[in-house]
Amino acid sequence: PRPDEPTFMSAEMLFVDPATCIDCGACADECPVDAIRPDIELSEYEQRFEAVNAAYYVDNPINVVADTAVRATRRREDFSGLRVAIVGSGPAACYAAAELALLKGVEVDIYDRLLTPYGLIRSGVAPDHQGTKKIATLFKRTLSKPNVRLHLGVEIGKDLSHSDLLATHSAVIYAVGASGDRKMGIPGETLPGSHAVTEFVAWYNGSPEHADSMFDLSGERAVIVGNGNVAMDVARILLSDPERLAATDIADRAIDVLRDSNIREVVILGRRGPAQAAYTNGELLGLMDLSWVDLVIDPEEVELDETMRGLIEARETTASVRLKTELASEIAARPLSGSNKRIVLRYRTSPVEVLGENKVASVRVQKNSLVYDAQGIACAVPLPDESDIECGLVLRSIGYRGVGLTGVPFDEDKGIIPNLSGRVVDGETGEACMGTYAVGWIKRGPSGVIGTNKKCARESVTALLDDFVAGTLRPMTSREPLESLLKTRCPQAVDRSGWNRIDSAERKAGAARGKPRAKFVDTAAMLNVAHGEV
Ligand code: NAP
Repeated sequence: PRPDEPTFMSAEMLFVDPATCIDCGACADECPVDAIRPDIELSEYEQRFEAVNAAYYVDNPINVVADTAVRATRRREDFSGLRVAIVGSGPAACYAAAELALLKGVEVDIYDRLLTPYGLIRSGVAPDHQGTKKIATLFKRTLSKPNVRLHLGVEIGKDLSHSDLLATHSAVIYAVGASGDRKMGIPGETLPGSHAVTEFVAWYNGSPEHADSMFDLSGERAVIVGNGNVAMDVARILLSDPERLAATDIADRAIDVLRDSNIREVVILGRRGPAQAAYTNGELLGLMDLSWVDLVIDPEEVELDETMRGLIEARETTASVRLKTELASEIAARPLSGSNKRIVLRYRTSPVEVLGENKVASVRVQKNSLVYDAQGIACAVPLPDESDIECGLVLRSIGYRGVGLTGVPFDEDKGIIPNLSGRVVDGETGEACMGTYAVGWIKRGPSGVIGTNKKCARESVTALLDDFVAGTLRPMTSREPLESLLKTRCPQAVDRSGWNRIDSAERKAGAARGKPRAKFVDTAAMLNVAHGEV
């Protein structure tokens, strides 16, 4: 769906409407992440995506509402004096910067506490999904614009405060993502060997903040709690051939640990049924296509509850949900290849305790039945049926969580900055916090794919521009007060040319070893390269 179609925010992936497509192939040529392929060139595995694509248009007949006229008018206006600080440099920040940088007179200053931009593109997207990371080439174009400035290694809340930003910019957009993790709240959760998946992902992606994390992969089985796309990524990485991963931009330290790994089986626990699984069909199909790992589902666990069976028979669920249940049944019926590696997808199963003396030895799980609430949402209700799964590693993959910033409202329950269409509001009084906006996961919670942030950013930037036009945001004149603040408080900050030096050093080191890049994981080394000292 296009950003101006209502379902854009909830779409799992990019779809092409076969009825509208004129087969010109231009989209396949242009797509920066090679996500589009003509149907005649699909491999056997990729042909399954035709069904995913078709299912989308069954659920969402085309209905275009154009907002292009308003945006075209904006491009003719003069926004001189509008200086916007964007905190964070991940996808949501880059999409917001792209919207703003197109406009005449606007200045954009991007701040990130890390010395590298692109947020989860660098530190979240799995290293074996290099195609997805190519979106950074699009973002690089925005970061290279003359009216966009980069200030890396600057932490808002420590080096500069929210008030500092408000005093030196017309507006501040928080695009800080969700750097925290959620807890299961069960006994044994903090035993050695039980970790947040967020830490594991950041570690294998070479985040300097997790460079020293340790993971014990000496056991033969790992359990991942939660069955979203992050769980699918991590299961695949844990079982992949380390030599194949070594050719990606995965952290060297992680490769060393994965080479010594004994893990042969990853069990993924979903607390609800296959119809409610959090993974997307595309990611499940990706796992189904792996020849070197058996995907295992117990046929009993794919049996649908009566309510869901009724909904599916009456075709009252989305086509995407129907496909999800069909794929799970197909996996359950598939013969095993005999591979010595397995990913076991469990459903209606919740962890109740992590067991072990000094480290994780097993997870006690409980079966669930499903009960539908007044909104028709299936909720897991525990049954008196417990068993233990022996394992040496537990990763809770139950969602990221936003973290509050000093001086900015924060909703502790939802883990987001409270906002109305991107305008930050005081959670208690509902009053607007002038000049403060939010975008991405810190605005709406940790959901959606990278492209979801485009529409999200457009909404927040539209609110900001409306406020500037209405005269509620202060125009800025000289950059001098901001530049002198940065000079005194953030002398180590890395600008665009510093980042370009880090980027090319990583690419060069990677090329010598047949990798797209060899990431620095050490902050001091990065600073040296950025400031031209090596
Ligand atoms: P997610 O999709 O929200 O999945 C969280 C999982 O944790 C769900 O299965 C949820 O079950 C379960 N859960 C939550 N609390 C639990 C508890 N107390 N006990 C047991 N299970 C619990 O989160 P995610 O995997 O971190 O992904 C975040 C976002 O990034 C998603 O939008 C995802 O699609 C996106 N992402 C996309 C890709 C990709 O496109 N390749 C890759 C990675 C991430 P319930 O459903 O029952 O709540």
